[in-house]
Amino acid sequence: MQVQQKLGASRAMKASRNVQRVFAAHSDIRKEAALRVPLDKAHTFNAKFVPFADVQSNKMSGETYSLDDIVYRSRDGGLLDVHHDMKALAQYGPDYWRALFDARVGTTAWPFGSGVWSKKEWVLPGLSDDDIVSMFEGNSNLFWAERFGREALGMTDLWVKQCGNSHTGSFKDLGMTVLVSQVNRIRRMNPKSVTAVGCASTGDTSAALSAYCAAAGIPSIVFLPADKISLAQLVQPIANGALVLSIDTDFDGCMRLIKQVTAETPIYLANSMNSLRLEGQKTAAIEILQQFDWQVPDWVIIPGGNLGNIYAFYKGFKMCKELGLVDKMPRLVCAQAQNANPLYQAFAKANGAIPEIKEAYEPMKAKMTFASAIQIGDPVSIDRAIMALKDTNGIVEEASEEELMDAAARADRTGMFNCPHTGVALAALTKLRERQVIGPNDRTVVVSTAHGLKFTQSKVAYHSKQVPGMTCQFANPPVQVREDLGAVMDAIKTKFKL
Ligand SMILES: *Cc1c(COP(=O)(O)O)cnc(C)c1O
Repeated sequence: MQVQQKLGASRAMKASRNVQRVFAAHSDIRKEAALRVPLDKAHTFNAKFVPFADVQSNKMSGETYSLDDIVYRSRDGGLLDVHHDMKALAQYGPDYWRALFDARVGTTAWPFGSGVWSKKEWVLPGLSDDDIVSMFEGNSNLFWAERFGREALGMTDLWVKQCGNSHTGSFKDLGMTVLVSQVNRIRRMNPKSVTAVGCASTGDTSAALSAYCAAAGIPSIVFLPADKISLAQLVQPIANGALVLSIDTDFDGCMRLIKQVTAETPIYLANSMNSLRLEGQKTAAIEILQQFDWQVPDWVIIPGGNLGNIYAFYKGFKMCKELGLVDKMPRLVCAQAQNANPLYQAFAKANGAIPEIKEAYEPMKAKMTFASAIQIGDPVSIDRAIMALKDTNGIVEEASEEELMDAAARADRTGMFNCPHTGVALAALTKLRERQVIGPNDRTVVVSTAHGLKFTQSKVAYHSKQVPGMTCQFANPPVQVREDLGAVMDAIKTKFKL
């Protein structure tokens, strides 16, 4: 585990004892595992698809599918969920799981060095290690935002989970390693079953899909809304050899088309309607707990578009609680861009009463936002998000274009380099602090979903004050100077008041 910036001398000593404990526990694990294997035959580690409605109502209807089946919807057209045999996992106690996960951090033993596959038993327990397509995703930095918290928000315990520090620059890698690994297995069993893997995307999904497919030698197809994604996002699938279809519509339009295509051809659908991706994404939540030495933060703030990720975080926290690794859940905040805020509107209409959100919910036509990856008006995982909010006493907040760009730029001044989606989460946090919903000492984690370097166009526009109607109060444009010592000295003296 990375050494957190916050460790003081005494905590550092405790950490070193922890390391010794973990190594001791690691050899115990092997002994313990040897004693326990074979597991109770009725309960071996096992996962399958079940209707999401069954999970929601906590009543199993008996409708199930193998993860090897190519199926995205339940019989009545609802979403599916990957369901784990929790009794089998519970045969090993919380100490076992904590020690196992801790011992695998940073190891080179394939595939456990990946933050996702270090939790393999909780992700896809039946997958052979040889089928895994991984680029050691996960294990991302949990950044202590000490200066930003203190100066901007009067907070002592603010952290940013840098999920964008990853192979293709966004958290989508966490889900895509799982989906492409499962497709790899299906193709190995029956090469004709899947010709290619396809997705509609607001940019980051297509980058992750094409990279993982390229690593495994699987063809990929991406449907992108023309002129609505960043250049960095567009060039990634092009470079990785995907078939890139740039379509004159928005994300929701691309989604409608890919659904029809995948229904009629042996092209596998990689959108987050496909619940396999959420199994990988949920490991970021487990990782946060692990990075806090298995202590639970008070708040986790997640930018939401199609709303799969907030459910994935919920699922990760929930599994840790159910299996006794932690004793409570954090409160989740979904942060939406005002220009694409169907969940926020429903939350507001229901006066924050989460059971009434569904009733109040209406899809909308999303407007342009700098947070282009969440420019979605008809989120596929709306029901999943509502369940996550309901079970965690959650909140939905929104951010205008100016609020999200200012929040990102202001936090950049304290050493970060935030993408606009992270800006949405930071702006939501700012509002919740102003209203005293989040307290000054609450341990709060902001989920940063992509790397700022994927969104340089919007930053350039902001810092050159070329955004119509925006003050750009934190802009820091370069100073143009002649090649002349006097002019250079003037610029420096002006800045530092020398
Ligand atoms: C995909 C994405 C999101 C939104 O995640 P959902 O699961 O669609 O809510 C947020 N930020 C970035 C950078 C993304 O790529």
